[in-house]
Amino acid sequence: MSIVASSLARIKASPTRAISARATELERAGRDIIALAAGEPDFDTPRHIRDAAVEAMDQGKTRYAPQGGLPELREAICRKFKRENALDYTPAQTLVTTGGKEALYLAMMASLDPGDEVIIPAPYWVSYPDMVLLAGGTPVFVDTNPERGFSLTPEALAAAITPRTKWLILNNPGNPTGALIDADGLRAIARVLHAHPQVWVMTDDIYEHVLYDGASYHTIAQAAPELAGRTLTVNGLSKAYCMTGWRIGFAAGPKQLIDAMTKVQSQSTSCASTISQWAGVAALDGDQSFIAKHNTIFQERRDLALSILNQSNGLRCAKPGGAFYLYVDCRGVLGKLTPDGKPIGNDEDFVTHLLDREGVAAVHGAAFGMSPFFRISYALATEQLEEACLRIQRACGELDRA
Ligand code: PLP
Repeated sequence: MSIVASSLARIKASPTRAISARATELERAGRDIIALAAGEPDFDTPRHIRDAAVEAMDQGKTRYAPQGGLPELREAICRKFKRENALDYTPAQTLVTTGGKEALYLAMMASLDPGDEVIIPAPYWVSYPDMVLLAGGTPVFVDTNPERGFSLTPEALAAAITPRTKWLILNNPGNPTGALIDADGLRAIARVLHAHPQVWVMTDDIYEHVLYDGASYHTIAQAAPELAGRTLTVNGLSKAYCMTGWRIGFAAGPKQLIDAMTKVQSQSTSCASTISQWAGVAALDGDQSFIAKHNTIFQERRDLALSILNQSNGLRCAKPGGAFYLYVDCRGVLGKLTPDGKPIGNDEDFVTHLLDREGVAAVHGAAFGMSPFFRISYALATEQLEEACLRIQRACGELDRA
């Protein structure tokens, strides 16, 4: 008999982390690898945030944090929601978590009964379906429209809702596509939900601040306030604040749900790192000007990568409004042969070819629930990004029709 629970057979390890690990392995073996697989900014955590952590340690603030998070951080989170999203939450309606990922996981664990359905627009961030499965729920996928900026159409959403639907997950801007849903788009989704009061919305706003072309941001509880009573807003410091390793996320929503999530947290991780929480206060309350500076750099990289990839044989990609990913349509390379005669039958074959031939690590679309595409992250040094895109272009140029 296996030591591993049979329920785990339904779940896969995160493919993006697996590809990053494979790229690191090849690099250790001496290959020249450029990894476009991981979703983390290459910028250092800003100085004032690091200083706040050092100060916390020097002042002995190194013990367990109170359940739910440091009161100072929960208050800073409320100020953030008021200032940036015009949302009024009390500290008791917030929860500090170990990354945004824990907030999402706690929400699933705290709310799902066997058979409960969770609607996940595809393509999706890799962890949503497996978190739903771990919590005993059933993921229900709804394809977005790649020809219309990967938008979730009200018709497709309405068709997916059943009496067992408990959640709709929104990820705005989205990973892997970078698609941004504006206030009108959010209101169109809300109109569908008006007829289905059993459906709650879990919005993952982790890329809220990574926006381009002067776009403004709305979260659904702000665009459709009538849904606030059944919305969990999840956010965190990993991406815009360059704090992936600090592991600070947060959620805000109705107290009954927050209390249930807190109960699960109390029996699992206890609390997020206290030192990181003090850094989080400095991040939310401190100078925000670095965010715009980073976005200017990300936008230049986005445009550079788009220009090279859109000149590559068989690739096509539209301009996304946020996050730091491109989700590239690679339909045009399917059916071709690599220089050593291997057929490219799907997007996984293509990313394998990119890694083997050119040392470029990207993630195949099947991992995100929509093929044939592949995802690159452009959160890496511009020169490396340019070199990687040129290598992809070369790899495409070397493919032959079968
Ligand atoms: N949500 C999305 C869409 C993400 O892309 C990520 C990280 O890649 C997360 C959540 C998790 O973020 P964190 O590092 O805060 O746990």
